[in-house]
Amino acid sequence: MWKGKTVAKQRLMQNVIQRLEKRFPGPHDVFIKQPFPLLIATILSQNTSDMNSRRAFHSLEAQYAITPGVLAYLSPEEIQPYIRIAGLYRIRSQRIVEVSKIILEQFQGNLWNILRLPLKDAREQLLKIPGIGPKTADILLAFIVKQPTMPIDTNIFRVALRIGIVNSRKYQLTQKALEELIPKKKMQTMHLLLIQHGREICKPRSPLCQQCPIDKYCDYPLKT
Ligand code: SF4
Repeated sequence: MWKGKTVAKQRLMQNVIQRLEKRFPGPHDVFIKQPFPLLIATILSQNTSDMNSRRAFHSLEAQYAITPGVLAYLSPEEIQPYIRIAGLYRIRSQRIVEVSKIILEQFQGNLWNILRLPLKDAREQLLKIPGIGPKTADILLAFIVKQPTMPIDTNIFRVALRIGIVNSRKYQLTQKALEELIPKKKMQTMHLLLIQHGREICKPRSPLCQQCPIDKYCDYPLKT
């Protein structure tokens, strides 16, 4: 019974992957390849559009080197003008300075030593750093050291619930369910595809179901 259900969900996921890849041809990768800049970009990306978070990152980067050794010695006020476009700039600027200080003081400014640990240990260490939550830790692990882990954001929660892959809003349960269904080599791609699908089509209030490439696999009762 359970095995049958899992196989059915795996098939469903295979179809979802194929259709989303076709609909959103990519490239499917993040534009930052170093851990500390990706951490700062992730702080800037929370609850804002992709375009505004990128603009904020590039504006900050044009002014200051994105390293803990530089950002830790700035005041939040010095950072704010450059990241204002991302919104919540007071909170974000404080978070950036605080996390920079901690990484500088406790980890000699270097996240690579943590990221190179086995997945479970690396995640545990990252989560001890104030300002790094499960999603941010998983983004670093997935995109910097290509660990087979699925960072979950609000778009992914919503899409996974609507297509019936999960029935929980808990981070770890949703992550586990998706990690069991998505092939390891597709994990990073699917993270980005599900976010794009959630932002552009499976929107929170009025999903565009008539344009949806995976509508045939979705039993959401409030389809439009
Ligand atoms: S059919 Fe509608 S609710 Fe279902 S995944 Fe597509 S956009 Fe979302």
